[in-house]
Amino acid sequence: MTTTHLDDAVIDVTPQPVPCAARPWTDFVHLDGSCACFYGGPAPLFSVPQQRASSGV
Ligand SMILES: [Zn+2]
Repeated sequence: MTTTHLDDAVIDVTPQPVPCAARPWTDFVHLDGSCACFYGGPAPLFSVPQQRASSGV
């Protein structure tokens, strides 16, 4: 008896920032997938820290 359940394959749709492999020393990340700078892919974005409380001034 064999049953097929494709429901077990849960795809994580949450984009995970991937550090830019072309410039690992920077804070640039790719939100849409792996770094493709070597292949003329989309430019990386500057990683913005979420825990940033603007205090003072
Ligand atoms: Zn890159």
